[in-house]
Amino acid sequence: MVEPTTESLEKIKKFVKGYAEKSGTTMHPNPAVTQAVVKGLAVHLDELGKPLCPCNFYNDKREEAKLRRWICACDEMQMYKYCHCLLFVREDGLPITEYLPEGHEGREIYGLVLDPTPGKGRALKHKVPASATAG
Ligand code: SF4
Repeated sequence: MVEPTTESLEKIKKFVKGYAEKSGTTMHPNPAVTQAVVKGLAVHLDELGKPLCPCNFYNDKREEAKLRRWICACDEMQMYKYCHCLLFVREDGLPITEYLPEGHEGREIYGLVLDPTPGKGRALKHKVPASATAG
């Protein structure tokens, strides 16, 4: 198991704390969940120079890291306020699914989970395709 550098770990911890505040989300009630994701992000920061989401499989991590979509906070988080890694969640530990399009796996798994802080986060909501907001 690869261990991240202390420097990257601290950077990610700081980012996560700041982004949770900014987006109106919190850490998972089980600290082990948060620790695992933070560690995964820090390993990617060391390896790729970018905090690529650790909860996906990539055919080519380096190519993926050149794109914006899965760099934390990823497009899904910034558009729909949904974090499938459970890093940014509600106080009850559930990820927000309110803004996800119908049929998205997050809706299938968790059902409708409302956003307790609708005034915060979603900096890229203007990028949500119109078809995803209908209904
Ligand atoms: S799902 Fe998105 S917001 Fe959550 S840890 Fe992965 S990149 Fe970050």
